[in-house]
Amino acid sequence: MIENIKTVNDFNFKNKTAIVRVDFNVPINNNLIIDDTRIQYSLPTIRKIIHDHGKVVLISHFGRPKGIPSKIYSLRFMISYLSHQLKIPIKFSEYCIGSSVEKYVNELKNGEVLLLENIRFHKEEEEGNEKFAFQLAKLGDIYVNDAFGVSHRFHSSITIIPKFFKNKKCIGFLMKKEIQSLQKILGKGKKPITILLGGAKITSKISIIKNIIHLIDNILIGGGMAYPFIKVQGGKIGNSILEKYNEIEKILKNIIDLYQKQNQTNIHFPKDVVIADSFNNKANTKIVPIYSIPNGWKGLDIGPQSIKYFCDIIRKSKTILWNGPLGVFEFSNFSFGTKSIAKAIVNSTEKGAFSLVGGGDSIAALRMENYENKISYLSTGGGAMLECLKQTILPGIKAIIE
Ligand code: AMP
Repeated sequence: MIENIKTVNDFNFKNKTAIVRVDFNVPINNNLIIDDTRIQYSLPTIRKIIHDHGKVVLISHFGRPKGIPSKIYSLRFMISYLSHQLKIPIKFSEYCIGSSVEKYVNELKNGEVLLLENIRFHKEEEEGNEKFAFQLAKLGDIYVNDAFGVSHRFHSSITIIPKFFKNKKCIGFLMKKEIQSLQKILGKGKKPITILLGGAKITSKISIIKNIIHLIDNILIGGGMAYPFIKVQGGKIGNSILEKYNEIEKILKNIIDLYQKQNQTNIHFPKDVVIADSFNNKANTKIVPIYSIPNGWKGLDIGPQSIKYFCDIIRKSKTILWNGPLGVFEFSNFSFGTKSIAKAIVNSTEKGAFSLVGGGDSIAALRMENYENKISYLSTGGGAMLECLKQTILPGIKAIIE
């Protein structure tokens, strides 16, 4: 896939204006960036264009303002941060389309950077509006997609704008790294390959399992992902999380069919769980088998037997992908499972395994333990990473190839 896709290295940006779609949707607290991984990974792309003596127009979204401009979703806070990182003044445009931004672009000199205000202040962005994309396209000569985290979305600045650039479009370095890392998992990964899926957004993850079941040596299912699987097999899950069960029951049955009848033994569920009588850190707890959780209790972490079982598999794995915590790790009393798994992945990585972790919560859990630099690659896109696992080319990448 990556072999026939152009990257920024295929262009000389001298005297050219590059529209670079980045994903600066970073977590902040009081205007301070808590985790700047996404920005850091995109800086090489911006630097390459500056170094070539080109001009950069940066497009990003921030949060979910749903088409309504507001101070809390403004990208203004990025100006000083970016200036500091790139060591040049950053220009800013309050508007993403129209005569005022076009004037700013015309005044840009080689080596300068113009940051546009949050693209999602325009409702047309998420609508995939073609006229809006055309207006955006007027701002540059070459289009660069370096926003992996949103490349599974059919948004104007991702899938529509490339239509206006024929062969003058490419991906940035962040995107290239993401694709290469995922390729190390799928197809080219050293065996045994293990994928660990946890978290609470079951519906977005469940369809992946069927697509990868024949390629992956071990699929470990934990966190909130596990309970619907236990329920569909007739287990008692008490009041544990069950997201949109009716919607996914058919898919669950299908997977369990593979698991039980066709002896597809590479799917692994937790053995025991830590259950709580309420959803808070001070709740009473017990450890019980995952198939027999009493009513009024909910599973909030994997238990010691499950930790051992999962860690043994991770220890033997040469390629590991992890998305989603194994429990409600935000509560310290239910974070042990997630932290233990993070440690096991770090240990395997130190012994030579390739590890890829994606999804904000899994990365946050790694950071809690200062493990973030001990993983082979941290993906900047949880949802996009999972879409790639479905073995489809992401819409944002397809739009560059076409
Ligand atoms: P996701 O975005 O799908 O990766 O989900 C992350 C969220 O899943 C975190 O906020 C966790 O607290 C939550 N989670 C993990 N395990 C459980 C569980 N057993 N019950 C409820 N929520 C869970």
